[in-house]
Parts: sequence; structure tokens; C-alpha cells
Amino acid sequence: MNVHESEKIAGILQSRGYSACESVDDADVIVLNTCCVRETAETKVYGHLGRIKSKKKHGATLAVCGCMTQQKGVAESLVKRCPFVDIVIGTFNQYMIGEYIDKFLHTGVRVTEIWESPNDCDKHENIARDSGVNAWVNIMYGCNNFCTYCIVPYVRGRERSRSIDDILRDVDNLVASGYKQITLLGQNVNSYSYKGKNFIDLLKLLDSDKKYRLRFMTSHPKDFSVELAEEIARSRVLAHNLHLPVQAGNNRVLELMNRRYTREQYLQKIDAIRSLVPDIGLSSDVMVGFPTETEEEFCDTLDLVKRVKYNNLFMFIYSRRSGTPADKMPQLDYKTKQQRIDKLIKAQFEISKELASNMTGSVVEALVSEKTGDKCFGKASNDSAITFVSADAKPGDFVKVKITNSRNANLTGEVYNG
Ligand code: SAH
Ligand code: SF4
Repeated sequence: MNVHESEKIAGILQSRGYSACESVDDADVIVLNTCCVRETAETKVYGHLGRIKSKKKHGATLAVCGCMTQQKGVAESLVKRCPFVDIVIGTFNQYMIGEYIDKFLHTGVRVTEIWESPNDCDKHENIARDSGVNAWVNIMYGCNNFCTYCIVPYVRGRERSRSIDDILRDVDNLVASGYKQITLLGQNVNSYSYKGKNFIDLLKLLDSDKKYRLRFMTSHPKDFSVELAEEIARSRVLAHNLHLPVQAGNNRVLELMNRRYTREQYLQKIDAIRSLVPDIGLSSDVMVGFPTETEEEFCDTLDLVKRVKYNNLFMFIYSRRSGTPADKMPQLDYKTKQQRIDKLIKAQFEISKELASNMTGSVVEALVSEKTGDKCFGKASNDSAITFVSADAKPGDFVKVKITNSRNANLTGEVYNG
């Protein structure tokens, strides 16, 4: 999502005559787009700012935006701590970055402006897309779920869906201009709702005999339905891949997290999607060390991960976020959290390896995203990464590939002409 936000910022600057340059020391304007989902992301911002300060040329304008600055009190402390930062804006007025840069260049007075609510911030013009054959399309913004560990609802506001017509127009234009993979974005795409139409209605409208691949993220397990699984099975364009973040495998922890599903309900949903779409590739987000999580409860998470066997797993150590309910709960020590994540990473490594090895001998359709010499890199519908050699294939091509080998989670194959 942040990558796409940066494409929007770049688009705004391009439409005002700026062009991208290779390095910070060449730039007239530097924009740092931040994230605050975990503490490590925030710490990195201060490190980056220090490096930019020493590298940027005299008179270059430095702006900081994104989720981090939208948090209570952060903009003020950033302004105090970093006098070399010229512009600090939040998520809701990010689309006005061009105006703020002009204002600063005109007056020389530092600009700090954070809005409390979305207003009309969800604009979609002049996106400088920079993701190769992939294009991102927001279908909604914000989140209403308030998982107790999460900062997103506080910095991105309440849920709001884009109009069906705008989304259909965007996807049509992108496919017509050659993008081969479209990813629909929302914190919880299942909550999409616009004038009586829901997410499944939208997916049905996006189904097409045109050759492109459609993905979406993120889907909240509490709202994932059999109808959605059926649509994945039926659709001609939807990838056979699902990111369904479980976060934890223990019911007490899930309740403390306010996730509003149980381990059993989650596993039932996994069974449903697997029976309707047997070749589905599954991925998930998992957090260890949530406040008060016991070793036994962590083992439930480990057990769930081993049971489901995700193709890909994003694993995080719980990070305290100021202003969230979990921040006020009794915290675990760092060593315990570290030991748990190490165990989880080790278990997942073996699972990814096993699943990749199970794919050898199968034929998949790879979407080529990069090519170096004759070496092509692409992804299968289930999101597995594949390398193969072809003189003819080029980025954007769909190529049938027979998997011949696997190394850890990486697959190699050869063009299949059968
Ligand atoms: N809307 C998505 C997730 C957005 S944040 C969803 O509900 O799944 C992406 C991931 O970051 C989350 O799934 C969670 O695993 C992780 N995350 C969020 N807050 C966190 C925190 N305080 N500490 C550690 N990880 C966190
Ligand atoms: Fe955060 Fe939960 Fe919303 Fe995802 S659903 S963005 S984890 S509050």
C-alpha cells in the first residue's frame, strides 16, 4: 500500500514538472513516505533523515509524510527534532503535497499541517506507476476493525469505498495499456460497499475474457465467505492465491486482539477454500509475543501454521503502538518474543521448502515480470516465484512452465510446449 502511495506522490510531482532522479544528492525535492505499523519502521525514518541531511544538496526541499506523521504528537516532535525538515504533512492532506512545496518555496517558511479527517483525500489522478507489469488499484481506504494492536484505524481513518465506476474505469484503462496483473487494495477488501454493491459484486464485474491476473489484499478472516471462495474458483481472471492473515492460533489471544473469529472458524474457512480451489496458494500474517501470550498459546499458533501450511508467511514480533489498547496490557520481554519468532521462522522455512518441492513436475502459468539475458523471473497464479530460461519470453508474457527443480521456496522450470 505504501509503495502505491509513493507512486501517487511521484505522480503529483511529475504533473508539476518534476522528474525522478537516481540519488538523494541530485534531488531538488525529497519526499520521505513513512509507515508506523511497527516501531522498527519508525526508527528507520530517523536513520534515513540523518543520512538525507548529510547528503542533500544545499537548498533542496525535504518533506515527510505518511502514517507516522499522522500519529498524535509525532509531527510536532519531528519538527523540533529535525530542523532541516521543511514540510511535515499527514495521510489525509498528502494529495496536496505539490501546493505545500510551492508554498514553502515561495515563503521559505516551514510547513506543518496535519488534518484530523479524510475530507476529499482519496484522489486518483496522475499516478506515476513504477511496478513493472503490476498495477495497484485502491478500492477502499481506512479501517473500522480496531484490532487492539493496530495503529492503522487511527492514522488512516474510517472505512470508505471508491465508486464502482471509478474502479472499473481504472482497471479497464490499465489492462488496455498493457498491465498484466492488477492488485485491488484495501485494509479489509471484504468490507467493500458502494451503493448496495459488495466486494463479490465488484469481482464479478471485473471478470473478463481479457488476459490479465487479478489479486486482492487484504481479506479479513471474519468476513471471508464461501461465496468469495466460489468466486475465486469461478472467475477467469482471479489468481489462485489468498492472503488471509490469521495473526494468532489461540482463541484467548485472538479475542484479546479483537479479531472476531476463532481458530476453529479460521480453519473451517481454509478447508472451504481448499476444497473449492485445490491449487490455491495461501499466505498469512502472524504475530508473536502479543501481550500476555503464554508459551502454550504461542504453540497453538505454531501448530496452526504447521496445519495450514502456508506457501508464504509474514511473521512479526508484536510491537507496541502508542494509543492502541494492547499498549496498555502487560508486555512480554524481548527475549521471549525473539525466541518465539525464531521457532516460527524455522518451522515456516521447512513448510515453504516442502510445498515448493511438491510442485516439481507440475505445469503452471508464469507471468514474466523481469528478464536478464535469457533468464526469466515470474510468478505462478498461486504466487510461487519461478525462474526459467527462454529467449522469446518477455516481461508481461504468460508462459506455461514445467517445474523441474526447487531450492528452498524458489522454483526453477522450463518452458512447456505440451
Ligand atoms: N489490514 C490488514 C493488515 C494491515 S497491517 C489485516 O487486517 O490483515 C499488516 C500486518 O502488520 C498485520 O497483519 C499484522 O500482522 C502486522 N501488524 C500490525 N500491527 C502490528 C503491531 N503493533 N506489531 C506487530 N505487527 C503488527
Ligand atoms: Fe489493522 Fe485490524 Fe484494520 Fe488490519 S483489520 S488494518 S490489522 S485494525
